[in-house]
Amino acid sequence: MSGVGARRPVIAIDGVAGSGKSTLAAALGRHLGLPRLDTGAMYRAVTLEALREGLIQPDGTDASTNEEALAALAASLALVLGDRVLVAGEDVSAAIRTPEVDRAVSAVAACPKVRAELVRRQRAWVVEHGGGVVEGRDIGTVVLPDATVKVFLVADPAVRAARRAGQLGTTPAAVAGAMGERDLQDSRRRASPLVPAEGAHLLDTTERSVEDLVAEISGWL
Ligand code: C5P
Repeated sequence: MSGVGARRPVIAIDGVAGSGKSTLAAALGRHLGLPRLDTGAMYRAVTLEALREGLIQPDGTDASTNEEALAALAASLALVLGDRVLVAGEDVSAAIRTPEVDRAVSAVAACPKVRAELVRRQRAWVVEHGGGVVEGRDIGTVVLPDATVKVFLVADPAVRAARRAGQLGTTPAAVAGAMGERDLQDSRRRASPLVPAEGAHLLDTTERSVEDLVAEISGWL
């Protein structure tokens, strides 16, 4: 990839909630021996801290009026991303995936100044690692438009709700509404909306195994 000095391939994986991005990114990383960056975890960590510090209301509706403070938080957060997600040394891997964070994260992610900070950190991660598998919503469109391979995942809404419910230990009905709302907010926002990148391979994961998807994507490198 030109521009960021990558020595290894850069694989951009974008898609809606519950489309299987994290599972696929982890499997691809293992198969290809590449590091993985979950950019959703970065937006979630900023949101968790903003909620804890009372910078935003629980539904995040006032995020845009507090954009400067949120951007400062995004810039200063001592974030370590790996198998576990650490904020200032605290393991927040579970805390960033609660329904409370789900509810507010799209509003925080809609703030352009927050995005600018996190995009800067995401590009720095790729330079530092010389490439890797990067998953999110705007990776192929904004963060890494020169990625070696770009993938956009979709899946049947009922299957997506079932996957998310499995992660949270609840029922699909309990998560379907909030998930649909998050997708809508992510797709309609002005800053870096969730859309397939030019040149992205559209993959429907509803009835595909992870191994099958890994084999297909690896064949594009
Ligand atoms: O991928 P995940 O569902 O964990 O992402 C949580 C939220 O973070 C998304 O709903 C979206 O609002 C935001 N996000 C984003 N851009 C990214 C990754 C995540 O706006 N690259």
